[in-house]
Amino acid sequence: MAELRNVKVNGDRLWRSLMEMAQIGATEKGGVCRLALTDLDREGRLLFMRWAEEAGCSVKVDRMGNIFARRPGRDPEAPPVMTGSHLDTQPTGGKFDGVYGVLAGLEVARSLNDLGYETEAPIEIVVWTNEEGSRFSPAMVGSGVHAGVFDLEYGLNRPDNLTGVTMGAELERIGFAGAEPCGGREARAYFEAHIEQGPILEAEGKPIGIVTAAQGQRWYEVTVTGQEAHAGPTPMKRRRDALVAASRMIDAINRIGHAHAPYACATVGFVQVFPNSRNTIPGRVFFTIDFRHPKDATLSAMDHELRQECGAIAARAGCEVEVKEFWYFPPTPFDTACVGAVRGAAERLGYPHMDIISGAGHDAVYMARVAPTGMIFVPCKGGISHNEIEDADPQDLEKGCAVLLQAILEQANRRGN
Ligand SMILES: [Zn+2]
Repeated sequence: MAELRNVKVNGDRLWRSLMEMAQIGATEKGGVCRLALTDLDREGRLLFMRWAEEAGCSVKVDRMGNIFARRPGRDPEAPPVMTGSHLDTQPTGGKFDGVYGVLAGLEVARSLNDLGYETEAPIEIVVWTNEEGSRFSPAMVGSGVHAGVFDLEYGLNRPDNLTGVTMGAELERIGFAGAEPCGGREARAYFEAHIEQGPILEAEGKPIGIVTAAQGQRWYEVTVTGQEAHAGPTPMKRRRDALVAASRMIDAINRIGHAHAPYACATVGFVQVFPNSRNTIPGRVFFTIDFRHPKDATLSAMDHELRQECGAIAARAGCEVEVKEFWYFPPTPFDTACVGAVRGAAERLGYPHMDIISGAGHDAVYMARVAPTGMIFVPCKGGISHNEIEDADPQDLEKGCAVLLQAILEQANRRGN
């Protein structure tokens, strides 16, 4: 049996597989468009399944279309160590978001095969359905149903944003409405490797990010009501301009984000002005807020400041404001042992690393509700993702995969369940 630290992954093979998968739905600008449950998604899934079977894995599909490729262990009864991510992309997506986590898992299996290495517990590589939430909302439906965040009927009934056809119908059509029940699959641990999708690792010159937690999120819908009036005859001091009030609120929201640096994020990304006519004073404005922070207490403080600022600004502008919380997602600290396994692996391999918090949602965030979970980030060029120019260094991808393998081995060879 090989020494743990001598177990290497094949970075070239990983890169070749990433490039081959990227041809399915390749765009002219070098990106990928492989929307969930389209014919292209089917093609990508079938390619993965072929590779997994060639690597000696047995493949099962659950009713949500989640794919589980199992590499057997010495103890067939032991719950598997799971790893994976997603194969669907944004409409103008890249080659690495999600795909890297799936194919890094596959490379772990292939590398262990090269050595004839048998783990104690089985290893399962998972492909989660509709992580992106682009064709069907919300995001992370497959892992959400698996983790019991959504029930199966809810998942199957999600409609295509444009045509209304449901996920259930599309799963049937592409042959991925599997027989396995959703959820209830015990896992010893779950690891997900992913590109960072932000600029921190690249700026710090670290190939490995040890993800300690995922940020909590609070999303709001705000309606500011003033009074529509003629832009000519209405003197400035008599106006109740909802857009002026809303713009001061947007500025305040931005300041709240800065006030809780470095982890807070505060974004207004959607604004509607009524009646949106150039010679009418706006009578109503609707906008959305996305607040993120890894600590619940800070999110609560931001919530408090938001309500106070919006109330005061509206009163000064003679407007009314309604701040409605639309969605809340608690901060998710990852499992201490799994985070430790990732850190131990990076140290053993001598790779520069740093702790990092995930700003984006990932399947791992839902998996953390049902299994001990950890994540590994690798840098992406310029921190850019959800873009056709998304890019990553083959050596960084290899390092992330090597860390994944070590972390999986530690958990898969651990005694007891
Ligand atoms: Zn992703």
